[in-house]
Amino acid sequence: MYRLSEKQQKIMDKAREISDKFIGPRAAQVDKDGTYPMESMKALATEGFWGLNIAPEFGGMGQGLRVMCAVLDEIAQRCASTAMCYKMHLSGQAAYGAAVNKPRDVLRAAAEGKHLTTLAWSEFGSRGHFWAPVSQEKRRNGKIVLNASKSMITTANDADSYVVTTRWSEAETPVDNMLYMVLKQDEGVSISGKWDGLGMRGNDSAPLTLRDVTIGEDRALCGPGKGLDMMLNVVLPVFALGNAAISIGIAEAAVKATHHHITTGRFQYLNQSLADVPLERARLAQIRLETDRARAHLAAALDSVENPGPATMLLVLESKAAAAETAVRVTDIALLASGGRGFSRNLSGNLGIERNFRDARAAQVMGPSSDMIHELIGRALCGMELFS
Ligand SMILES: Cc1cc2nc3c(=O)[nH]c(=O)nc-3n(C[C@H](O)[C@H](O)[C@H](O)COP(=O)(O)OP(=O)(O)OC[C@H]3O[C@@H](n4cnc5c(N)ncnc54)[C@H](O)[C@@H]3O)c2cc1C
Repeated sequence: MYRLSEKQQKIMDKAREISDKFIGPRAAQVDKDGTYPMESMKALATEGFWGLNIAPEFGGMGQGLRVMCAVLDEIAQRCASTAMCYKMHLSGQAAYGAAVNKPRDVLRAAAEGKHLTTLAWSEFGSRGHFWAPVSQEKRRNGKIVLNASKSMITTANDADSYVVTTRWSEAETPVDNMLYMVLKQDEGVSISGKWDGLGMRGNDSAPLTLRDVTIGEDRALCGPGKGLDMMLNVVLPVFALGNAAISIGIAEAAVKATHHHITTGRFQYLNQSLADVPLERARLAQIRLETDRARAHLAAALDSVENPGPATMLLVLESKAAAAETAVRVTDIALLASGGRGFSRNLSGNLGIERNFRDARAAQVMGPSSDMIHELIGRALCGMELFS
């Protein structure tokens, strides 16, 4: 459904190879231990995938959202945690690539697989309302001073840099904000706590604190007070469509595992398989249909991004919510269809469905949450302002 060109398909084939060889085999252990999937991330780095959306002038592959979604879908079918960490990296790189002060060395290092980044947007005081950070920059001796309590930052411990949001020093409204590049090595940056979530257990989403982090103007990624524009027009499409692709990948994994289970599980005394039970076939058909429908929606959103119109932003947001809801429903049905085996966490012979079930739930609460997207769509349809 992604309708890739021959060149794009080759990139996808490589992503599939890496996913099969390195990412899939580690997924159950990453989930069990709740460890960051660095080996899987490094496998992507080795083949240049950390530079997937970085311009060729900086050594990247220069690919757009279509290839990104196809690749994330493929990775998420094997390990959703890896897909999530990788997507946050690509989201950060998108901000660097479009920045008013492009961090050229960082872009080159990322393309070489030597620099990992992420978004540090959520704050304890603004929660999932990422567009209105409560932290506010200060200006001192021509420098910018940042103080912020970021709540849940994927790759917190392993990232080399963070795309940080904060309120602009001259802000007149809650949405006049800024985006800065903060390096992990900057004085005043600290990370606390360890992620122990229901799902996405490898994503190391931890609190990040900035205490008097003092940086130069050259770290600004957007023009004065123009953070929201960059968030919505540059980062959100990468973040939201990438999230949709991950949800679809999780759903696809559950469909494949369900198919395997019902076609191989046998009632010996009847000499029949589970596929002989009409309800099981109907469940398989339903989750196939729902997954295909979400992927088709994502493909329509990608078309719209490539040929933008008034509905593009809505389609992008819808796509994230629709895919998240699909993945939750599909994994729920898959869990029923796969009986006790689907429920099991035993590593050997694990169908992965109970992990898919848990991983699928993260997208619903990740900002903008599905609730919030419904709210935004409703506001847009009623002609009201989206962010205020
Ligand atoms: C696995 C994972 C990884 C994450 N990684 C990152 C990251 O890398 N960087 C980052 O910045 N953040 C990250 N986050 C944080 C995320 O983006 C959200 O900010 C966070 O999940 C919101 O959680 P909260 O607890 O503050 O929600 P709360 O604000 O407590 O929300 C509670 C409920 O209220 C609903 N709600 C809130 N406002 C509205 C509204 N106006 N209309 C309708 N419903 C509403 C929400 O949908 C939610 O169901 C991550 C979160 C998760 C779960």
